[in-house]
Amino acid sequence: MRRIMVAGNWKMHGSQTMVRSLLESVLAGTRDNAALDVAVFPPFPYLPLVQSLAAGSPLAWGGQNLNPHAQGAHTGEVSGSMLTDFGCRYVLVGHSERRAIYGEGNADVAARYQAAQEAGLVPVLCVGETIEQREAGKTEQIVAAQIDAVLAESGVQSFGEAIVAYEPVWAIGTGLTATPEQAQAVHAFIRDKFAALDGTIAGQLRILYGGSVKGSNAADLFARNDIDGGLVGGASLTAEDFLAICRCVI
Ligand code: PEP
Repeated sequence: MRRIMVAGNWKMHGSQTMVRSLLESVLAGTRDNAALDVAVFPPFPYLPLVQSLAAGSPLAWGGQNLNPHAQGAHTGEVSGSMLTDFGCRYVLVGHSERRAIYGEGNADVAARYQAAQEAGLVPVLCVGETIEQREAGKTEQIVAAQIDAVLAESGVQSFGEAIVAYEPVWAIGTGLTATPEQAQAVHAFIRDKFAALDGTIAGQLRILYGGSVKGSNAADLFARNDIDGGLVGGASLTAEDFLAICRCVI
């Protein structure tokens, strides 16, 4: 059976009180579903709290980014081994906010992906086009270049231990969800791209969709052949909204 993943990216939101209450509700509401994997990506300071609340449960957690270096004089940065030290299984790399606001280009993202795997983390590689790129008919070209940079650094076999999240930039935090058809078309393009290199890796690769996923659209998205779950931003910040998405997985 195909397992669907619902991953909550909390971005720079939260407090100890919020994290405690959100996680307690999510843990209570997501038990016992063999078809569902749930993960949360809190801001770094809340990782120990998430670890203490979720340890021993089926819920996994991860960092929202990592530095490509293993350690050293990089004030303000966090390494992959620091994330595993707090029980992280996953880490986001190349989120569009990192690319657009903090200037992380394709080569930088590829270095972070490689560092994640060296630290024993499963990278969630985020890719996606802006509205201008979509309207110029460049969606596939942009997504391919984002993936090619990682393939050049780490090789196709590395995707046996990675997740890809297709997140059209125009759909993130805007309320404008890609239609299931639009999302499926790009997901199929991504899977075909991997299939040309390695059929087994392509068949097993999890490709999540991100961009204004909600309880009202998740079931339609997750029903598509190549959409293996969702990376959820805004709707992951309240238990009710996040659980409504999780409940779409039966
Ligand atoms: C995200 O932050 O990755 C995201 C998809 O956000 P939202 O669900 O709010 O669009």
